[in-house]
Amino acid sequence: MANGNINVSVENIFPLIKKFLYSDHEIFLRELISNATDATQKLKHLTRIGEAKIDIGNPQIEVKIDKDNKTLHIIDQGVGMSEEEVKKYINEVAFSGAEEFLEKYKDKDSKDAGIIGHFGLGFYSAFMVANKVEILTKSWKDAPAVHWTCEGTTAFTLEETDKKTDRGTEIILHINDDDKEFLEDNRISELLNKYNKFMPVPIKFGTKEKELPKSEDAKDDEEPKKVAVDNIINNTDPAWTKQPADLDEKDYKNFYRELYPMQFEEPLFHIHLNVDYPFNLTGILYFPKMTQEIAAQKDKIQLYQNQVFVTDNVEGIVPEFLTMLRGVIDSPDIPLNVSRSYLQADGAVKKISSYISRKVADKLKSLFNNSREDFEQKWNDIKVVIEYGMLTEDKFFEKAQKFALYPTVDGNYHTFDELKEKIEKNQTDKDDKLVVLYASDKEAQHTYIQSAKDKGYEVLLLDSPIVAHLIQKLETEKDNKVSFVRVDSDHIDNLIKKDEDKVSKLDDEQKETLKKEFEEVVSKDKYTIQLEDADSDAMPIMITQPEFMRRMKEMQQTGGGG
Ligand code: ADP
Ligand code: MG
Repeated sequence: MANGNINVSVENIFPLIKKFLYSDHEIFLRELISNATDATQKLKHLTRIGEAKIDIGNPQIEVKIDKDNKTLHIIDQGVGMSEEEVKKYINEVAFSGAEEFLEKYKDKDSKDAGIIGHFGLGFYSAFMVANKVEILTKSWKDAPAVHWTCEGTTAFTLEETDKKTDRGTEIILHINDDDKEFLEDNRISELLNKYNKFMPVPIKFGTKEKELPKSEDAKDDEEPKKVAVDNIINNTDPAWTKQPADLDEKDYKNFYRELYPMQFEEPLFHIHLNVDYPFNLTGILYFPKMTQEIAAQKDKIQLYQNQVFVTDNVEGIVPEFLTMLRGVIDSPDIPLNVSRSYLQADGAVKKISSYISRKVADKLKSLFNNSREDFEQKWNDIKVVIEYGMLTEDKFFEKAQKFALYPTVDGNYHTFDELKEKIEKNQTDKDDKLVVLYASDKEAQHTYIQSAKDKGYEVLLLDSPIVAHLIQKLETEKDNKVSFVRVDSDHIDNLIKKDEDKVSKLDDEQKETLKKEFEEVVSKDKYTIQLEDADSDAMPIMITQPEFMRRMKEMQQTGGGG
């Protein structure tokens, strides 16, 4: 038996831990299960390399609530600890980590939960929810089991015990009255589902009923027999940890379902990420059908570190335009214990972000090359992401030039180069610049579209909210020599060089009167009124709003510049 004082310079560390970690205290469970997982993986490793000559079977981790005693138990069958190891790893090492943490952040505003939540304070985070913590542990080596207790001060007790006979560690938390929620099945289920759903060692929480298959001589109306089986809450080898070659389309769709059980729509396609140099990163990203609703639900990509959920705030790690996607990223190389601003400046993180962006561009390119028809069909559902990416990232813009599509009002899809080639001959203005005609609303601009088509012009349908910005960018790209004009922004003959003059059916006097009549109802400063040519019966008079004025207004509405 040993009593002692935990070796730490800060006199009473526990109130500080509570204060600092308060806003995110649910992470204690993630920390303890991570330790249990590490202990199990260590033992597996030792047997694999022949250092531990034991039969480890199929080790599990169990989480158990004891309502009567107000305790929560986390039990593993891993390496366990000898008395010496408890002294070393629990009493000293873990505390030095905590001390370092406090040293580092003592001047920082404790409300900055962003920093704290990601700082793995490890074992001692148990004291955020428990006033007393016990460890019962037995090493895989031939050493007596030991019992450690600590009541939230720097004093502890450590003694040999015969209360534990099998290998591994049991952590017992005596839950505070203020934290009774952690004695509720639902709350613990919720946490396990959030943080531990894809961890590599099976985690048992209670039991569930399973129907047995009916025996052959069972009567038809007989109730199926049920048995209680372990309720394992996790999938120990999620899709992203496997090789793409070992997965088919169905596996990817099933995994999507696993990630988002409430999402009804199937994803359009996926991108499997897999790098090990110069940083480690695996993951699967999905392109959902981009409805306005979906685009608004950002933060759906989940960040993991070695299969432990960390956060769904991937800002700074995933390029902003890709935060509309869904999926998982797992990397041990993302520093999680630092603030967001540090993260954004971090070299490794920047590399990760540009890697992801490049990978997405490559995938889009190959989809386009391999099955253009399919790509065209998906275009409307993915264009927001791509157009936004083109606007915000130059490198992505360059790559996207090869596969970004510009649909016509008749449903033909051109790349920008194809479009230029198509209109080169007859859609140029006085300065020989290419004139790209487009409509933003097929119904409302119907007559204008018709009038352009009558002249054999190509009219694009550009109706996404960021199109005004994108157009601006395309126009200012060097060597492009194009100008975009909306079909209703001026008289069609003023937009594109005329080859012959036409005669009007109306004489000058008639025209003047008609024009005056219109000017009385339409604001002359904002719109141009023009009478149509003789050969155009469809539209004897045209009221237009100049391109630049309308674009200004649109850009003000959508904000920012292109
Ligand atoms: P970290 O996990 O970052 O090392 P922790 O504070 O979580 O820090 O844990 C400190 C140490 O205590 C671990 O490194 C490990 O050696 C030991 N430990 C904690 N939990 C267990 C466990 N369930 N089984 C065996 N050893 C453990
Ligand atoms: Mg730990």
